[in-house]
Amino acid sequence: MTADIPLRCGDSAREARAPWYAAGLRFSCVGCGRCCGNDPGTVAFTSVEEERMARCLGMDTAGFRARYTWRKYGILSLREIENYDCVFLRREGTRARCKIYPVRPAQCRAFPFWPEVMKNERTWNSYSLSCPGMNGGVLHSIAEINGYIGQ
Ligand code: SF4
Ligand code: SF4
Repeated sequence: MTADIPLRCGDSAREARAPWYAAGLRFSCVGCGRCCGNDPGTVAFTSVEEERMARCLGMDTAGFRARYTWRKYGILSLREIENYDCVFLRREGTRARCKIYPVRPAQCRAFPFWPEVMKNERTWNSYSLSCPGMNGGVLHSIAEINGYIGQ
């Protein structure tokens, strides 16, 4: 009679929970600006982020809110200009930069590690068709990615 081999419950449970991006994902922004414009969208922000953005521009929050924000799809968002670019996007030829980059909202910092992008490998690869920074560059660990997603 052989001794029972203990089940490695912890390991199998961990494997079952491992997300599809467990080995990490490569991403480095190339500054094309596509995710900051081209299509209608929203850029949400917290009141702390609003204060930071206003301070960066030398404004008070009331002035910032009146000039640079609006309600869209039921949420308070940064404004867009006529071509749907974010009001803070500055295009220079094929490059683009954010006028408030150091104080941009968490929504901007987290891209492309957004829940809707990270649903599965198919959604990730689908978004990568419009973001040339995805699937190349720096390898981001699962811990880092989960931090962005909020897990
Ligand atoms: S689409 Fe991708 S590469 Fe282009 S600015 Fe946005 S994050 Fe950077
Ligand atoms: S705040 Fe900056 S990073 Fe965010 S969408 Fe606008 S231009 Fe892009």
